[in-house]
Amino acid sequence: MATISGPPANRAEYDCYIERMRETEYPMLKDTLYLDHAGTTPYSKRLMERFHLDMMANLFGNPHSASPSSQRSTLEIEGVRLQLLRFFKADPEDFDLVFTSNATAAIKLVMEAFREQEGGFWYGYHVDSHTSLVGVRECAREHRCFLSDEEVGVWLDEESVEDVAGGLCLLAFPAQSNMNGRRLPLEWCKHVHGLHQRRVYTLLDAAAFASTSAPDLSDASTAADFTAVSLYKIFGFPDLGALIVRKDAAHLFQKRRYFGGGTVDMVVCLKEQWHAKKSGPLHEQLEDGTLPIHSIVALKSAMQTHVELFGTLDQVANHTTALAKQLYDGLVALRHANEALVSTVYTSGEPSYGNSTLQGPIVAFNLRDNRGQWVSNTEVEKLASIKNVHVRTGGVCNPGGVAQSLDLAAWEMRENFSAGHRCGGENDILNGKPTGIIRVSLGVMSTRSDVACFLAFVDEFFVDKTRLLPPLPCLSRPGSSVPRFHVESLTVYPVKSCAGWQIPYATPWEACNEGLAWDREWCIVHQGTGKALSQKQHPRMALIRPSLDFRAGVLRISAPGASEQVTVPLSKDPTYFETAAFFQRDATVCGDPIKARLYTSPVIAGFLTSAIGVPCTLARFPATTGNLPSTRHSKAHLQQTNALSPNTICRPLLLSNESPILTISRSSLNRLNEQIKAKGGKAAHPSVFRANIVLADSPLLPPGHEQPWAEDEWESMRIGGDGGPILEFLGGCRRCQMVCIDQVSGERNQEPFVTLAKTRRFEGRVLFGVHTALVGEKGGGRMIRAGDVVETVARTDQ
Ligand SMILES: *Cc1c(COP(=O)(O)O)cnc(C)c1O
Repeated sequence: MATISGPPANRAEYDCYIERMRETEYPMLKDTLYLDHAGTTPYSKRLMERFHLDMMANLFGNPHSASPSSQRSTLEIEGVRLQLLRFFKADPEDFDLVFTSNATAAIKLVMEAFREQEGGFWYGYHVDSHTSLVGVRECAREHRCFLSDEEVGVWLDEESVEDVAGGLCLLAFPAQSNMNGRRLPLEWCKHVHGLHQRRVYTLLDAAAFASTSAPDLSDASTAADFTAVSLYKIFGFPDLGALIVRKDAAHLFQKRRYFGGGTVDMVVCLKEQWHAKKSGPLHEQLEDGTLPIHSIVALKSAMQTHVELFGTLDQVANHTTALAKQLYDGLVALRHANEALVSTVYTSGEPSYGNSTLQGPIVAFNLRDNRGQWVSNTEVEKLASIKNVHVRTGGVCNPGGVAQSLDLAAWEMRENFSAGHRCGGENDILNGKPTGIIRVSLGVMSTRSDVACFLAFVDEFFVDKTRLLPPLPCLSRPGSSVPRFHVESLTVYPVKSCAGWQIPYATPWEACNEGLAWDREWCIVHQGTGKALSQKQHPRMALIRPSLDFRAGVLRISAPGASEQVTVPLSKDPTYFETAAFFQRDATVCGDPIKARLYTSPVIAGFLTSAIGVPCTLARFPATTGNLPSTRHSKAHLQQTNALSPNTICRPLLLSNESPILTISRSSLNRLNEQIKAKGGKAAHPSVFRANIVLADSPLLPPGHEQPWAEDEWESMRIGGDGGPILEFLGGCRRCQMVCIDQVSGERNQEPFVTLAKTRRFEGRVLFGVHTALVGEKGGGRMIRAGDVVETVARTDQ
């Protein structure tokens, strides 16, 4: 094991020490900018090795029996319980500690105790509460959300007798907001103890707070009655939570009715129904079933390692407080070239970065472009994921805090919900307001250079350095028709998210309203969840090659490393081939429910499972009913939304990266690749864009006369000259990090997304290629072929 001397006291030296120590102790953080410590913090090598040694050296049995191994477990667990109480400076005379699976389970224990009280309970919670605290209200007789610290203060001063009259009261609040890191006044607990009649109790959610400071329970008279913590947020491992209970509030658990193995001494269940619950310490009454023995044992290693690696909690607090200030100061200082602010930081009140009593190491914010428009957090996430930056975006489980910060009224949230916005959804700016935030949270193993790297990331992608707007190409006269392009190639993707199959040159191919024939006719679904797999999560799907063999009437699928291919009939008639047997099952494609028809063949399932590495099988999209193309569900999840910009009014934009037909231009790709190569990057292969139609400038054009980005201006095109089908352009295709998956090796790169994000971002959307659809039936024929000439019509609406 590497020997590292203890952490230095000086703050600058402490940072250098962490930087160095991290190389050996946190190898998983290498080349990674991990900024989601409020989600969970990573575990050190030393902790895992120490735990491993402990496990190898000792036999731990199930506690509460007489064997030596069982005795050892009991002894260890009680030792760890005491040590953990001491970690929070809690005197075991005054406090008991109950192990739970997480902080939420600790909160639920308190809720259950209050629910059993006669007359129920009145519940008050602070608006900054985590969802897990908010949910307690559903079990209360009455509840109130305090919208500010002042409201809590007024309530406490008035001792609001009418609220208390009916029975018990529970006041809950977070010690630190998990959204923006603000620390709430802990004096409230003391204040409550001073209230007459002792009917108000306090539940302190210290899950976020404890990750870089420990709640100090050294004075029981000022401590909360119930303190919930998530231990993995402090130590990275093990995955445990705890509830620390002031013993003089322990009687509230007496009304608990449930018992289980571990919380009962004697049970009679034959003729008579009788049981004797455990009457010892509180934790014995509440820890149902077998304790997570090994996790609790691991805590011992976790506590020891924590102090060795990080020193005192004061050192931890000083270090993280300074980093948070550096981050906050850096973010608010960012300006676009036109002086417009880049970030809006949410602080609920005066910012207090630098003061560890008032502020923890979390910064919540959103970004704006140089015209003051919000940057979509989905875009931030895409770039962050390419750059290996780990942040959290969205509602971050803090409904009140997020609504207050974003000034979202309840009706707006309901409206957003019905407009399809869910936590983690793609559509994150509605009615001109963001629906979520970006949260950067620091941990004790974060460093000054992490903060600097994050600021550089924002600066690189979201700060506009030039005052100029990107020039819009306007090469073709509006309304004019210029046959200077031709179809370079046509590709279909018979199996969604797998490799494309190029249609042989000059072969006539049918374009239908819902796409090219045989495009996305099949998909691969997870056998457990029924979800259609996508390349975003499973880059190896790029290596699965479907091909259409019309002579044999089959789809063949091959995969690297597999000597055999699998084949399924092109015909939808299940009696046609043995491998065609289907069963229907509910599945989802991009979140939309469909009735997929899964192949029953174990050979197909085995083949795809070993190729992708998750249990999956092939499914065919449901048969079309009649000749209605719109019922082909492969395209049914296309979403339409409002216009992208004044230029594209009435032009539906498809959010999904699938569209009936996707068209890209070779000249645009060449231009993009010149830009990538100028920065020393690797040029993008056209296959990464997964287009159906690749257009190219006419080969007869003199050099230098190509028209990159001409497609931005097009309204429609006719393919194949007079009588050929007319296709309409529906809007730019919004790109994500999937374009970085090399379609030959399955590897992930940073390009072309990084350059696209810098050169092709319009109103927060990174566009490359255009969504295309056949115009009705009247527009002429339906057949197109590679080599056909293309006449384009430019938009006239500008
Ligand atoms: C993380 C967190 C929770 C939930 O903790 P779990 O361990 O996931 O149950 C609750 N409250 C706050 C403030 C948190 O940060």
